[in-house]
Amino acid sequence: MGLVPIARRPTNRYYVCFKDGLSNFIMKCMLCESLSLTHICSSCQETFLRPSIYKRKILNNIEVISFYKYKDIKDLLHTKHTDIGYYIYSILASNSLKEFAKNFEYTETVSSIAIDDNIKSGYSHTAILNKSLKSKSIKPEFNKLRAKNSVSYSGKSREFRLKNPRDFTFKDSKVKDIILVDDIITTGSTLSQAIDAVNKSKSNTLFCLTLADASVK
Ligand SMILES: [Zn+2]
Repeated sequence: MGLVPIARRPTNRYYVCFKDGLSNFIMKCMLCESLSLTHICSSCQETFLRPSIYKRKILNNIEVISFYKYKDIKDLLHTKHTDIGYYIYSILASNSLKEFAKNFEYTETVSSIAIDDNIKSGYSHTAILNKSLKSKSIKPEFNKLRAKNSVSYSGKSREFRLKNPRDFTFKDSKVKDIILVDDIITTGSTLSQAIDAVNKSKSNTLFCLTLADASVK
């Protein structure tokens, strides 16, 4: 099921006071335009953002688990270059990664680390995803994995990606087992390079989590 295309414009927010003394910002849901307290109303979250589990393997059998088909949430993911992206990524994360983390059990605490969580337009979209994983078995760590090469892979071929490595540096974690987090998996080049960087250290990549997989039709 595809999502309704959304316009990339700031959502109008109105400050309203209710009769019972409560007040809040109210705005229009980006998908159905009904009045809502969040950028995507609860009914649209229920209808369009219910997560599935998509699995694929990269490198030496490292599993990548994704929750949405890229084509279904493409327009929402594009908000990451705007101010609204902060809210949209928080909503996507709470519907998928946060639920995953709640049910995740492991013999010891593992760390989750986001790919390249540097700040653009006032926030880091991958740090939002990572933060949502905080749970009894997962401890998010920040500023650990950065690309020295800021080349964008968006729309680029696998060949281009191989010729232009992102050159990740991984700051050692005290935690042995690591979950890597990113928003989209396309060819798997970025995650593969990140796994290599982590596995060269004392840590070990358990598996990867992404919001959306572009290879799922
Ligand atoms: Zn709605």
